[in-house]
Amino acid sequence: MDYHAPVQIPMSSPDLTEAESEAVLKVVRSSQLSMGAYIEAFEKAFCDFTGCQHAIAVSSGTAGLHLCIRAAGIEAGDLVITTPFSFVASTNAILYEHGIPIYVDVDPKTANIDPQKVIEAINDLASNTKRAAQWLPRKGANSKQELKAILTVDVFGQPADYDPIQQAASQRDLVVINDACEALGAAYKGRKAGTLGEYGVFAFYPNKQITTAEGGIIVTNNDKAATYMRALRNQGRAPGDTWLQHTYLGYNYRLDEMSAALGAVQMSRLDELLLKRQSVANWYNQRLQKIPSVQIPTLAATTTTISWFVYVIRLADGINRDLLASQLKEKGIPVRPYFLPIHLQPYMVERFGYQPGDFPITEDLGKRCLALPFSGKMSEQQVEFVCQELQNCIDRQ
Ligand SMILES: *Cc1c(COP(=O)(O)O)cnc(C)c1O
Repeated sequence: MDYHAPVQIPMSSPDLTEAESEAVLKVVRSSQLSMGAYIEAFEKAFCDFTGCQHAIAVSSGTAGLHLCIRAAGIEAGDLVITTPFSFVASTNAILYEHGIPIYVDVDPKTANIDPQKVIEAINDLASNTKRAAQWLPRKGANSKQELKAILTVDVFGQPADYDPIQQAASQRDLVVINDACEALGAAYKGRKAGTLGEYGVFAFYPNKQITTAEGGIIVTNNDKAATYMRALRNQGRAPGDTWLQHTYLGYNYRLDEMSAALGAVQMSRLDELLLKRQSVANWYNQRLQKIPSVQIPTLAATTTTISWFVYVIRLADGINRDLLASQLKEKGIPVRPYFLPIHLQPYMVERFGYQPGDFPITEDLGKRCLALPFSGKMSEQQVEFVCQELQNCIDRQ
């Protein structure tokens, strides 16, 4: 009998030290568990890092996106252009306010929203001609509804192509929301991810570049919106309201002090954390570029820096991705199809009538992409093991 089953490589892993533990313990011992000094320190770290005037820490990245949707004034029936190739939160934030996501397919190279198609969609929807209809879902929307915003996502840590999108948006007074939840530390033409729209959002679930356990943060230079979002996060209490006065319909989206303390230490280690992830990605790149049926991630010319969030490969035609995934799992290697297209999730099909074939590039990526185990804590030996087994499993197909 084999008593020495190999240690399972985790899909992802947070990188924590004694410093994080001590900071969290300090909060616990202080009894100030919410709305204290650590939230302020964490927010200041984000202002310093991004150069933005305001940073508003919240209980999750999804909560941050929701507050941006509220700040952008999205109401029932308003149209928001976004990508179907993302984590569902980017679409859900729109749906929470009964807005309507207008999907635009992605660039096959980067998997980010295609800026040319965004411009086409903006022009068609604004001109309100018959051409507007082609961008709308089969049901649940009509072209009388107004286009208000564009929600871009920096997929897998690579910024979308903002300049053409922002230019088209400015001409029509549309708000750009930058979902940078996967891209802390990335840069587009030298500008930091998260600062590329009116509002930017980062997220800190344990698989992200830094973690607060659960948490997120919004960055913006918009003074009025920042004050509004701070109020919404805190049950709608505007400046001057007492604890039981609520100017707005708000939420409890506050980040607690233990999470903020954890995050403040993680932010102080950001360079180190990003460098480690870069090394692991380099190890993968070196090995996997030699396997013909595996395509490694490619960078756009506009990407100054990718911030490695996940390591996602694409498999050539003829490789059965799902079979490969189960073969790898048997070897103790967890992998994940990344992403399953949002428009084909059951609740989206039911509500908007989407069908396979509606966004062919997104769907093709949805069938080919496979995220390998990835974190800054992986050793070169672990990467080697994953790559060897990947090669073996592909050879067996
Ligand atoms: C992680 C992530 C979010 C936010 O996730 P939370 O779990 O709510 O913190 C939002 N958008 C994208 C693209 C993400 O990857």
